[in-house]
Order: sequence, then C-alpha cells, then structure tokens
Amino acid sequence: MLDKMIDEITRTGTSVETMRLRRQIRLSNQVGLFGAVATVPYQLFYLVYDIGYFLPVFVFNLLFIAVYLSGLLLNRSGRHGYARNLVLINACTQIFVVTYFIGAGAGVQLFYFAIGTILALIIRQDYARSLAVLLGLVSVLYLFCHFRFAQGTTPIPSPWGELAYGVSAVFAVMLAGGYSYLFRVAIDAAETRLVESNRALEKLSTTDPLTGLANRRRLDQFLRKEWARTTRREHALSVLMCDVDSFKLFNDIYGHQAGDECLRRIGTLLDEILQRPSDFAARYGGEEFVVVLPQTGEEGARYMAEQIRAAVETLAIPHPESGVASVVTLSVGVSTLAPEQSPLSSQLLAQADAALYQAKAGGRNRVVFLNIDAPDNY
Ligand code: GH3
Ligand code: MG
Ligand code: MG
Repeated sequence: MLDKMIDEITRTGTSVETMRLRRQIRLSNQVGLFGAVATVPYQLFYLVYDIGYFLPVFVFNLLFIAVYLSGLLLNRSGRHGYARNLVLINACTQIFVVTYFIGAGAGVQLFYFAIGTILALIIRQDYARSLAVLLGLVSVLYLFCHFRFAQGTTPIPSPWGELAYGVSAVFAVMLAGGYSYLFRVAIDAAETRLVESNRALEKLSTTDPLTGLANRRRLDQFLRKEWARTTRREHALSVLMCDVDSFKLFNDIYGHQAGDECLRRIGTLLDEILQRPSDFAARYGGEEFVVVLPQTGEEGARYMAEQIRAAVETLAIPHPESGVASVVTLSVGVSTLAPEQSPLSSQLLAQADAALYQAKAGGRNRVVFLNIDAPDNY
C-alpha cells in the first residue's frame, strides 16, 4: 500500500510534464468556462439595450460560447491539445471582435466585469481581494459618469464618453497584464515548490536512513536501467553482493548500536572506494550491501571486490569472534553479465548471491566469482 503510494508520488509527482499537462488542462478549462460565462452579461446587455443594433455581435457571441463549451468537452474526452488550441483561438478571436465593437462605442463598461470575472477565476485568493477593490472603484466611477452625464441613447456623452472609453481600455489592459503577470509568478513559485518537495520525497523514499546509501528500491531502478543497456549489447555489467561476516555475533557482543555504527562505517567506505560516477552502492538488507559496476567485466569486478574486502579488513573494527583476523570482515560474491549474454534480469543478482554463499562456505572474508552461465550452486 505504502509502496504503491510512494511509487505513485515518485512516478507522477515529480514529472514536470505531467504537472504541465495538468496545469494546461486546468487553465484551458478555466479560460473556456470564463469565456462562456463572461459572454453572458454582454448578451444580456445587447438584448436589453438594442438587439437590432447589436445583432451581429450577439450571433458571434453565441458561437464563441459554443466553442468555449466544446473546449471543455474536448478536455473531458482526453483531447487536451485540441482543447487548448480551440479555447485560445476562440478567446483571441473574441477579444478582437469585442475590441472592434468597443471602438464602435458599444458595451465597453461590461469589459471591466468580463476581465474581473476571468481574473477572479484564475487568481489566488489574496490577489482576488485587491482586484475586487479595484473593480469596485472603477464601477463607482462608471456609475458616477452614467448618472451625472446621462442623456439621449448614449450613456456617457462626449468628451466624457471618449475619455471614459480611453481610460477604461488602458485600465483594462493594465489590469489584465498586471494580474496575468502575478498569476504567472504565483503559479511558477508553486510549481517550483512542488517539484522541490517531490524531489526531496523521492530521495527520502530511495535512501537508506542508516548508511545514506541507496536502498533496495533505488537499486532495483538502477539495475533495471543498466540491465536494459547491457542487453542492448553496449557493455558488460557486474554485481557484487557483500555480506558482513558473523555480524549476529558482533551485535551479541557489542550491542545493536555498535552494530549500526559498524554498518554506517562500511557504508561510508563503499561510497569512498567507488570512484566512477556510474558505480553504484546500495544497502540491500540488514548487513548486506550490493555494488553495481556498469561497464565492468569479470577482471575489473574481481579487482573491485578484493579492494572492498581488504578495505573493510583495514578498518580494523574489533570482532573477537570473527575468524583469524579478529576484526570485522566481509564476504563478497561477484557475477558479471557480458554484453553478448542475455539471461533473465533476476539471474545476475541470484548468481552473485550464490557466489556469496560459496564465499561463506569457503571460510568467509573472501571474494568468489561465479560465471553467470555456471550451474546453480545452491
Ligand atoms: P554470516 O557470516 O553467515 O553472514 O553470519 P551473520 O551472523 O552475519 O549472518 P546472519 O544472517 O545470521 O545475521 C545477520 C545479523 O545482522 C542479524 C542481525 O542481528 C544483524 N543486523 C541486520 N540488520 C541490522 C541493523 O540494521 N543493525 C544492526 N545492528 N544489526 C543488524
Ligand atoms: Mg546476511
Ligand atoms: Mg552476515
């Protein structure tokens, strides 16, 4: 259950593409919905004011509403790319048509409310509040002009009308630009935070807390990737399975905390010994470590295994029950997959494990190599 959850988080949560797609769907839905809803007040205005005069734009708007709504339907049916393009083209065309009619002196005041609606829809709560205050002020200004200068069929006479139109257009563009910018900044910051926390979460879910090495989950991911490369015949791949000798006795003698400290030191040592950026060490289980060496054949793997074994011995951590040396030692099983071989992916680890078994049986504190094609030894 937890594994499934973490998998879900690391797979989909960190993917910037998935997040972008989600944002795109959300945004195009919002704009589509806004476009359809915000066009309705215009339509009411045209109906009440002078439908004869505004008939062309009224018909246009019905079309716009239909296209906006079909954008929502397209998103629902999974055709997100089409939905976004349709909504965008529709919005741009509509803005063009509306601007044209504004130029003709019609419906300009409703433009404010339209912008107010879209911004309130897409902007975070705190921005929405200051936006509401601004819109309130502009509405009061409009009402003042309307009642102060009302005469004939035009709500606002010249030169006040022209002035109001000019100011309204500038104001509208400023509002739209300013709030789009703020919206952009807010969404970018949120996205960055999300990506960062997902990265931290992913690291946490793939790291062994005691040694700081990779855990088994990351080992599996790494092996799968390297396995694919090797079976594409690019290079050899070696695996070292390391197990601390008589570690149960070490715990019995010195206690669990000393045991933990010993494992931590071995972890640090592995990290130090592996110099190539492609080399990889993980804590496989209790006192078992796995080292993966990409682009490394039998000879190199044997050499590295011996280096690791000798280095653990050189740490000279006292362990009275650990054979002749009386220090903590390591047994290492090694196996290599050559580029021309293509066995099952689980076989390499299993073969290294079989080699480790032989190292234990042979007296511990040693390296045993087993060819991947060798018959099972356990
Ligand atoms: P062998 O040489 O055959 O490997 O003997 P062993 O005693 O090392 O092997 P065994 O599998 O019998 O015991 C492993 C012990 O490792 C058992 C457990 O007490 C200890 N161990 C496993 N995980 C941890 C850990 O996280 N901390 C500590 N302190 N001990 C651990
Ligand atoms: Mg063990
Ligand atoms: Mg052991």
